[in-house]
Amino acid sequence: MRFKYTDYHVHTKNWSIDVDQDGPIFEDYIKIAEMHQINVCFLEHFELNYVEKDKLNPFYNGGIDDYLEEIDKLKETYDFVLGGLEVEYYVDREIVLLEFMDDYGNELDFIAGSIHEWIHHYPITTRARLEELVKKVSVKQIIDNYFEIYQKMIESKIFKNVCHIDTIFRYINEDDIKPTEDCNTSDERVLELGRICIKNKIQIEYNLSGIKFPIGRTFPSKGVVINLLNEGATFFVGSDSHSIEYFTKQIPKVKKAYNLIHSIQKFNI
Ligand SMILES: [Zn+2]
Ligand SMILES: [Zn+2]
Repeated sequence: MRFKYTDYHVHTKNWSIDVDQDGPIFEDYIKIAEMHQINVCFLEHFELNYVEKDKLNPFYNGGIDDYLEEIDKLKETYDFVLGGLEVEYYVDREIVLLEFMDDYGNELDFIAGSIHEWIHHYPITTRARLEELVKKVSVKQIIDNYFEIYQKMIESKIFKNVCHIDTIFRYINEDDIKPTEDCNTSDERVLELGRICIKNKIQIEYNLSGIKFPIGRTFPSKGVVINLLNEGATFFVGSDSHSIEYFTKQIPKVKKAYNLIHSIQKFNI
């Protein structure tokens, strides 16, 4: 990698279905990354339940091999590009996920596990879908399920890296869909997940995307990141970009986030 800093989490319109059709392609990110001297890792969504059944999914029917080929071609020219995937974890599909990691783990530079949905078609990271889910399942139950499943993902050790550990609070918070009184939304709960990552030697994402939403903070929050760093956690930084404007704006923040991480790690050595 050519540069000191790396943004590990960007999405393109050709490979991630949640990017607008006029959104960025590989080359758009590369141009800006080179200009601002930062390595860029493409971390496209890879969700088995859609990859297998949805013909419109870019990875449907062996699309992964085309993805790898395109990334390899880019890497021949640009030594600051990394190929990765944000792989969805499913409690009931661990064997298939392990097989996938066996087959492709070494073909990619970086793979991170994520949880966006555990009830098919109800991603908790899409506000409209979450609102519908809240009508069927209590907010407490949704939050509890999220933390349970996230813990299972960490303890499965399928992934060496995990994304946005408390993204359940993207829309469930005091400024948006309000948690009911019986909900446990404490930092302690997020810290506990972080500690399980430390125990299992899993790297945690410092995901900057929360600032786009009413919650207005990173995932996890800066305070939790500092706490976990002091307890020995390791972090990678991701802007979670779905547009070039946002990516460009995040670059100084990504660098700042690494400086924070490094200053605490140095202090602890
Ligand atoms: Zn994600
Ligand atoms: Zn993402």
